[in-house]
Amino acid sequence: MRPGILDLIERDGTVPGDGGYLIELERRGYVGSGSGRETVGTGRGSGQFTPEVAVEHPDALRGLHEEFQRAGAQVLQALTFFATREKLTRAGYGDQTEAINPAAVKVAREAARGVALVAGSVSRTQLFERERPSAANHARDLLAEQVRLLDDAGVDLLILETFFRLDEMLLALACAQESGLPVIVTLSFRPTTEASSDGHTPADCARAMVDAGAKVVGANCEQEPARMLPIVRAMRATVDVPVAAQPSAFRTTDEIPAFTNVAEFPDELETIQIARREFEEFGASARAEGIGYLGGCCGCNASYIRAAARGLGR
Ligand SMILES: [Zn+2]
Repeated sequence: MRPGILDLIERDGTVPGDGGYLIELERRGYVGSGSGRETVGTGRGSGQFTPEVAVEHPDALRGLHEEFQRAGAQVLQALTFFATREKLTRAGYGDQTEAINPAAVKVAREAARGVALVAGSVSRTQLFERERPSAANHARDLLAEQVRLLDDAGVDLLILETFFRLDEMLLALACAQESGLPVIVTLSFRPTTEASSDGHTPADCARAMVDAGAKVVGANCEQEPARMLPIVRAMRATVDVPVAAQPSAFRTTDEIPAFTNVAEFPDELETIQIARREFEEFGASARAEGIGYLGGCCGCNASYIRAAARGLGR
């Protein structure tokens, strides 16, 4: 039997993951940024970034998966980010929820060619930002539905990612636990790196997620490697399970340490792109410090994953 994600981390110390799909596919013309269409978050495009490319242009998605695998990724994340029914409905694709989720898993599985593991990606519903925590029951139903669709489609593990709030993450984790699949959970720290958007420090978040059953905890998106490293160090100092880091490839500042809050998001991100060398250095740090899972997020194409894998000594 092929080793699972926890066996791989145990065996290899640090497992290289893949990079970011939506920004890269937006640049290639296959994903909408929603620029100018919605007023959620920054009001500059955070409203869309839905993954209908999985059914509309599967070859484009498969090609990007293959690039990441060639670069060294041992896990491919199916592009099911923002594929909960309500979010897809807002983008006009709600009635394809049952098609998009398994299609994305199938495309990732084809690209994995029996070598890489395939992860189902689950992210925040955006309902907590729109309707406050009073939306919890609705959010739970949406997250549970997506977990079921991904489990039925045969993913090897789940990655719960880009949650801004610990309370919504814990809801998603409870849904994910129902599947019995291994679960990696990574929060995104915005607008500051000091706390989740509902006010919990990275260390407290890590502890709460482990207490709720997560087998790997960490951070993804929003910060470049150097700014994310202190977050995952704080988590690692607090919990005994492996930690995961999937930073973005955009330069942030002390004043605005989250790239989706900067003025360049989403239409001028090329001007704050960092060098791939920073991912190579992050790979070396990860290896030295025992970070268990290392990939990339927004802005991170295959050249960054190749650099990270080199830093890991692969
Ligand atoms: Zn991201």
